[in-house]
Amino acid sequence: MSKLIVFAAPSGAGKTTIVKHLMHQFPQLTFSISATTRQPRPDEQEGKDYYFLSPAAFQEKIKNEEFVEWEEVYAGQYYGTLRNEIARLWAQKCHITFDIDVKGALNIKKAFPKETLTVFVKAPSLEVLYERLRARNTESEEQLQKRMNRMLEESSYASQFDYILVNDDLLEAFAEAETLVRNFIGEAPRPQENEYPEQ
Ligand code: ADP
Ligand code: 5GP
Repeated sequence: MSKLIVFAAPSGAGKTTIVKHLMHQFPQLTFSISATTRQPRPDEQEGKDYYFLSPAAFQEKIKNEEFVEWEEVYAGQYYGTLRNEIARLWAQKCHITFDIDVKGALNIKKAFPKETLTVFVKAPSLEVLYERLRARNTESEEQLQKRMNRMLEESSYASQFDYILVNDDLLEAFAEAETLVRNFIGEAPRPQENEYPEQ
């Protein structure tokens, strides 16, 4: 049976970094590609990072009940998990990882309680979170402020998750995440060469 592993965190806590690492370590994991109305970042690709939809197309899918869950994560920016995305990955008989917001994560757990592990990724402090987000250099100052404001609200949901993973030292966080996944899916990782090739 496929398992669902849902990572959620305030923006900048490091969940994308951790999920990408896990995907590399465990070839038996696939990634649920969400739909969003936000603009693609320069390094993002349609159908790989997100399905980028217009606001009208997103609303149409809400109306047709095509989402397992969706949220207006930031004002005017919608994100959601499509039912046919889960069906597509289930057909591949892989375990599915998600990188979604806290409410979305808890809604996936509600929809598939037995199959789902929810993990809340936390930065060690607010200051560290702010610095990481700024250094990532992907948001405007206004977007940064929006994301920081949301962080406090999101953190209040942490206790409802199955596991809280503090991302301080990245290698330690990787190891902790690997142990979690291994225990949950009951299968060992198959490490691959050259994850971090010398520059
Ligand atoms: P999220 O997906 O939660 O928004 P990212 O994975 O994009 O966060 O991480 C935000 C930024 O912080 C990235 O530039 C990433 O390289 C960096 N980062 C992630 N984890 C750590 C860590 N443990 N120590 C230092 N920098 C980190
Ligand atoms: P970003 O714009 O940085 O890619 O994502 C912003 C936030 O939206 C993150 O917290 C991310 O996890 C969340 N998100 C991405 N996809 C989904 C989704 O399908 N559903 C929900 N509820 N949140 C999502």
